Parts: sequence; C-alpha cells; structure tokens
Amino acid sequence: MVGPIKDAWNRVSDSCRYHFPCLFDPARRSAMMLKVALVALHLIYAGVLFLLDEDLIQKTKEEPWYTSLYLLLFVAALAQYFFTAGSSPGFVLDAMRVCDESDALIKRFNSEQRQSASSNNGSLPVTVDGSQFHRNRLESSTSSWTKLVMSMYPPGSSVRNWTCPFCNVVQPPRSKHCQDCDKCVLQFDHHCVWLGTCIGQRNHCRFWWYILEETVLCLWTEILYISYLKSNILRAWWNDAIIIVLLIALSFCLIFLLLLLLFHSYLVLTNQTTYELVRRRRIPYLREIPERVYPFSNGICQNVYNFCCARSSLYYLEPLPRAHEIEAKARPYTCLDILRCRCC
Ligand SMILES: [Zn+2]
Ligand SMILES: [Zn+2]
Repeated sequence: MVGPIKDAWNRVSDSCRYHFPCLFDPARRSAMMLKVALVALHLIYAGVLFLLDEDLIQKTKEEPWYTSLYLLLFVAALAQYFFTAGSSPGFVLDAMRVCDESDALIKRFNSEQRQSASSNNGSLPVTVDGSQFHRNRLESSTSSWTKLVMSMYPPGSSVRNWTCPFCNVVQPPRSKHCQDCDKCVLQFDHHCVWLGTCIGQRNHCRFWWYILEETVLCLWTEILYISYLKSNILRAWWNDAIIIVLLIALSFCLIFLLLLLLFHSYLVLTNQTTYELVRRRRIPYLREIPERVYPFSNGICQNVYNFCCARSSLYYLEPLPRAHEIEAKARPYTCLDILRCRCC
C-alpha cells in the first residue's frame, strides 16, 4: 500500500516541479513569496477601507471618478512593480553579446551633444558609433569589447584590474558584479530584495517611477484613513483600533518611500548611483575625486534627459572623466557661473 502511494506522491511532485519550477528553487520561492506579500498588503489596505468606510462607499456612488482614479493608481502601482521586477537591469554580458551581434546597438552621444555638454560643464560624454564597431567586428567580440572598454579607462590601465573574476569579462566603468544575480550589471545601483532584481542602467528609470507611484498611493490611502478616523471616531472602537494600527504602519512606509524618492531623485539629478555614493572611497577611479564633484554629471537637464529618454534597446557606456574635466567641475561657482546656469 505504501509503494503505490509513494509512487503517486513522486509523480505529483515531479509534475509540480515541471510546471512550477519556481516553487522548488529557494531564491525564486522567496522572491515569489515577497510578490504575494506585496499584493496582499495592497489588497488589505484598500479592502479594509472599502469594507469599513461607509462614507467612501457613498462618495463612490456620488462621485465615481474619485474612486476610479484611486483604483487606477492602485493598479498602476502594482503593474509598475511587476514591470520593474521583470525587467533586466542591463547585464554586461548582454551588452557584450549585442556588441557582437549588431554594430550599432551601443550608441554614444553624438558630437553635437559632446560639444554642448563639454562647453557647459566640462563633462566627457562617450562617442562610440557604429562604424567603430564595424571595424572592431573584424576581431573577436571579446577582444573588441576589451578594447572598447579599456579605451574608457586612463591609458596604461591593466585589463586584469577590471576583469570580473566571476563572469570573466572586462567591466566598463560604473559596472559591478552582483552576488545575488551572479552577473555584472551596467551602472549598478543596488540589488533590490523587494523587487527580486538588480537596479541598473536599464531599469533605474522604471524603479523611480515605481517609487513615485507607490508614494502617491501611500499618501492617498493615508488621507482616506485619516478622514475615516475623523468622521467615525465615536463609533465602534474595534474599527478604529484596526484603522489606527494600519495607519501607523502606513505612516512608516510613507516616510520611507518619501526619503527613497528624494534620494533617488538626487541621484538622477547628479548622475550617480547608490553604489557610487555609498562606496565612493572603495571605488579606485572615484577615490581621488573631491567629494562634492559629480564625475559623470552632464548637467541637470542632460542627466534627467538621459535618465528618462534613454532608449531601452541601447546600452550606454560612459568613460572615466579626464583630469582637466574633473578640475573644471571642482572649480568653485562664481556669479557668472550662476548666471550661465553652469549646473544645468
Ligand atoms: Zn561579474
Ligand atoms: Zn542583483
């Protein structure tokens, strides 16, 4: 009797393993549990409100657009979460592969942009166009990649110093190997446990939008909870107790989200990443640069444009700024600089 039951159990187990492989991988299982927890949290907060707040239900009947807007934001925040969680941060290996497959997929800023940015703030945008790749494709992809990447470091830099010991590829400036993803990520920001993915060059913008949507949703929900408490303070005490507990937790989330949004907005304006900001003294090429100088900044407007409008099909590689450019950026601001909007 034990034999057939065991066989049946093994068959069910094999079938589950085949159809739902994520349930048997601890990392993927925990990522999935986090996603379920996030959706559940959203549903609990909105559900409690619609279950207890009779005024809100009445308002929904009178002004359906108000609740529709709230629900739209609710769905948009969740959709943005899954969209960001499922997106690629921009892996170095993928960029290297693309470099081999197409001669125009890695695009540098054009010469006009270089001139305007250099005249504004002395930054050094990179220009590698398709023709350079075309020439490089005569050699193997690895060596062309190595050549391209090494041209972004100061002359005389050793390939060995910039080769990732795990992926065995030469890392462009601003890249870092992520231990969780086990891959090198372009413009590495951080590995987000909540999203279960790295935040890098290709999904940082999506991440910023997600934080914004979540912050607005959190703020709106908090306002609805407070207005419920105000109008129902003398009614059933257990209702109030539930609402107050949820409101306190929501307030902590809101403070955290607001700080996170401000922090990432600052990173966008100055073209920095969390990793560069936190580990500045441990990154060899940033160690010597004065604290208040943003080496990769092209001015606020250009930074925001690059962040928001960079095409997701392209990989952007930024070389290290030269010594004279760092000097120009470190120069103190004068009245003339302010009039000329040097920071923009
Ligand atoms: Zn690596
Ligand atoms: Zn990662």
